[in-house]
Amino acid sequence: MTIEALRERQPLMWINSALASATDALREVAEQGGPTFGDIEAAEGLLQRWRPALQLLFPELNSSQGLIESSLTRLPPQAAQLVCESDLGGRFLVKADHDLPVAGSIKARGGIYEVLAHAEAIARHEGLLGPDDNVIRLLAPKARELFATKVIGVGSTGNLGLSIGVMASALGFRAQVHMSHEAKEWKKKRLRDRGVEVVEHLGDYAAAVACGRAELEANPNGYFVDDENSLDLLLGYAVAALRLKKQLDEMGVVVNAENPLFVYLPCGVGGAPGGITFGLKHIFGDFVHCFYAEPVAAPAMLVRFLSNGPRSVYDVGLDNITDADGLAVAQASELVYGIVRRLTSGIYTVADDALYRSLFHLSEAAKIDIEPSAAATFLGLGLFERGAASAYLAQAARDPNSVTHLFWTTGGTFVPKEEFQRFRARGEALAGESIIGGAN
Ligand SMILES: *Cc1c(COP(=O)(O)O)cnc(C)c1O
Repeated sequence: MTIEALRERQPLMWINSALASATDALREVAEQGGPTFGDIEAAEGLLQRWRPALQLLFPELNSSQGLIESSLTRLPPQAAQLVCESDLGGRFLVKADHDLPVAGSIKARGGIYEVLAHAEAIARHEGLLGPDDNVIRLLAPKARELFATKVIGVGSTGNLGLSIGVMASALGFRAQVHMSHEAKEWKKKRLRDRGVEVVEHLGDYAAAVACGRAELEANPNGYFVDDENSLDLLLGYAVAALRLKKQLDEMGVVVNAENPLFVYLPCGVGGAPGGITFGLKHIFGDFVHCFYAEPVAAPAMLVRFLSNGPRSVYDVGLDNITDADGLAVAQASELVYGIVRRLTSGIYTVADDALYRSLFHLSEAAKIDIEPSAAATFLGLGLFERGAASAYLAQAARDPNSVTHLFWTTGGTFVPKEEFQRFRARGEALAGESIIGGAN
């Protein structure tokens, strides 16, 4: 497949011929100085240590004793057929990150991990964290006074800002979120309501990130969370793999050569899907197959895979205009690309109309309400019915019905009711048209 094919803006599935065995690919990452499984375990250790403190800061975490985690649920085949617009058999699961507490999206694990790691580093440097690393001390007035002299900033289309901003301001930091002028009004309001400073920029997401970075790097008390280049974010995301393993075990879902696991991850700069892929490959090796979903107008990671160096979707004649705002990214993270280059099975593209249809069907058939970006997870399945993807599936599984397809719903809980109703109505209208027109 070539870059030219992307200009047609038709949904397609690309299969990565550079995919290597998990052992080889992970060894290469480590040899090149990249992260290891130990780093994921250390990130999980930090999040475990913070549980009592997080429970005090966020009462909604009482039921999980301070753990920020989402549920894993089954999606009945009839519902999957509608939502995925596909007849492909198999078992279907939903990893419900649209419902992650505190931040309401997949950004919770990565963003919150990075803020907590940064807070610990500052406190340790100032001698506020005793030798026992008891982080409850960091909720005391002395630590809060220290944090209040510091600014944590981030550039975001919304969800990362919510995650970083809410956590940083809960600890007493000044939190600053740089957003593009077009970012959703309700996301700006939600941030401001939580004491986060929203700085609006003309231009796209990359422009907001660039301004935010320049401003915070010039400030000696500033810290910039670099979505395009953050190992901490990636490690925070990767922790999800450990949690998923436990949930699959509890559900009695076996992952092995006869029962492979196909995971569908909506992709923006790549940190969230890349981090999760990195974690899953350590745990399930060659039995897990990770696919990323990108808008037809913003296939940033796919453009990177098909190029010899960094390149944006603008460079190839695409406009990055999509309603999937969590995925509206023009250029992929080089850091993430370097890590997942040989771990990723494939990347597929999705049209905005199909996102709304899936969102509507999911709400109807499974009572799960997600944002348009998250619906991209469901639109890869139908693309296995032909071409290279069909051959990939046949090779991965002797019996397609033995495959477990896991859809990662990445955001949605905090979308205001009225906004969600508009999404839903749009999807319902489009679903009607698609039945009448017979198109998909
Ligand atoms: C950010 C986001 C993603 C993708 O994460 P990246 O790290 O940007 O690749 C997917 N879905 C939603 C809803 C998001 O907010």
